Amino acid sequence: MDVAEKLGQLENLYRENRLSHVYLLETNDLQKATTDVIKLIKKINCEFTYKDTCQKCNVCNLINNNSLPSLIVIEPDGQNIKKEQVIDLKKRFSFKPIYTPNNVYIIKNADKLNGSSANTMLKFIEEPGDNIIGFLITTNLNNVISTIRSRCEILSLMYTENTEEIAENIKKVASNYLQLIELEKVDKIMYNKNVLNDYSERSDIEQIFQEILNLYIEAYEGKTTLAFLSNLAPLALRKRISLTAKFLEDLNNNANIELLMDKFIIELSDDYAENI
Ligand SMILES: [Zn+2]
Repeated sequence: MDVAEKLGQLENLYRENRLSHVYLLETNDLQKATTDVIKLIKKINCEFTYKDTCQKCNVCNLINNNSLPSLIVIEPDGQNIKKEQVIDLKKRFSFKPIYTPNNVYIIKNADKLNGSSANTMLKFIEEPGDNIIGFLITTNLNNVISTIRSRCEILSLMYTENTEEIAENIKKVASNYLQLIELEKVDKIMYNKNVLNDYSERSDIEQIFQEILNLYIEAYEGKTTLAFLSNLAPLALRKRISLTAKFLEDLNNNANIELLMDKFIIELSDDYAENI
């Protein structure tokens, strides 16, 4: 089951009022998981048919402004979640919820519940008041204190990027990078750093340069829609095609990626100088 399906299941349980009173969610993306849980709460409680952009209803507006009294999000205050934060939560949820049927709390980085805050939390989990639902979120289940872990229903929300999205991103990165190195006359090498900051895997760089090769070939065949490539002479394009092909060959032979990219820029620039 993927994340969307799991969230759909939670939503159904929520609608049927059959949620466990506390969940421990393990995720590889803390922010996304938190956003998804908040979205779930909006979906259930929206006064209209929920849309991502709902600004019409009181509940969604209050949640968007972090001011719905029946939703409390706790995150570590410094290194840890402090006992006082948990005591405050208990106090605020000793009142019946208004606007929504449930009081809901979310604890980000549940692994940061330490000694005394964990104890206070444990008591709260064991004897929650009525209509209280909790979502503890962590990126590492094993770091959550076992006494808490054993009292929660555990659910894994592991996000994977959609492969089509990744391919689209690679295409965008390749043409942006190409535009910069073709049009910029000085300091081109720094663009390598930008690319490498986001894509450090050999396989990513290979895909980016494969796309660059395609773009040069398209231009050589007169099929490009990119102005900065259609201005290049056929001879210049042929040199670029062979430089890129050589780059891919060296990359496959395990050459150092950063050096290889710098060499690519330098050789491309020599070529540029010859052709203007
Ligand atoms: Zn709404």
